[in-house]
Amino acid sequence: MQRSLCRTAATILLPRMSFEAIILGTGSALSEMHFGSSAVLPWRDGLVLIDCPDAILRALAHASKRSGRAIDAMRITDILVTHLHGDHVNGLETIGWKRWIAKLNGLGPVPRLHTVEPVARRLWERLGPAMDQNGTLQLADYFDLHIIPLGVPTRVADFDVEARLAEHLIPGCGYRISRGGATLGWSGDTRFDPAHIDWLATADVIVHETSESRVHTPIECLNSLAPELRKKIRLVHMEDNFDQAVTDIVPLTEGEVLAVPPR
Ligand SMILES: [Zn+2]
Repeated sequence: MQRSLCRTAATILLPRMSFEAIILGTGSALSEMHFGSSAVLPWRDGLVLIDCPDAILRALAHASKRSGRAIDAMRITDILVTHLHGDHVNGLETIGWKRWIAKLNGLGPVPRLHTVEPVARRLWERLGPAMDQNGTLQLADYFDLHIIPLGVPTRVADFDVEARLAEHLIPGCGYRISRGGATLGWSGDTRFDPAHIDWLATADVIVHETSESRVHTPIECLNSLAPELRKKIRLVHMEDNFDQAVTDIVPLTEGEVLAVPPR
């Protein structure tokens, strides 16, 4: 009894730490105005990148300038991949080449790349034709692949990451990313799926996609959620004609420093 009381007191006294997500891109796959949905999470030894869209080096430079945070490709230690659509992974070729050349020059290891098994299985099928150097190189020359098992919190940098499969056109997942008692939920691309949202709802902040398509989540569906839940949600993956007036859910902006939990 004594021990259990002490444990409870210790839990209450632990300070709740916050962390930051710097938003790189907020656009849908067909956006002419924005980078693809992505962010970086700073940690002690560098950056965790969430998805890796087209023009990733420009997206990093743009967000660095806007946020005032030192973010660039050489500081990426880990990459979390949600799925293999181009607006989420087309930048992997660029990061892969840049860090492979850096490794040859003795400038550090290649990044760890984390994803769920159904995505990992097809990753080199997608990258190999552009990166295998006539069959002489493998995925491991560019990225240190780690599979995130479903339902098991997994260490990524100094975060604990859980994955849940999402319903989309191809295999993909969402993530709950936690550190120091704070959690960021990241939906990944998904059709409107109340079970996925329930799973994300334990997070302090939920970054949820929206687009007007049956394989994405129309804003009307998110508008139907309870007000307390809507308050936690921030939007990404918006089409260029997205009308903010149709919702009270606040869109993310590129270069924004998102605090988890909000300050
Ligand atoms: Zn997609």
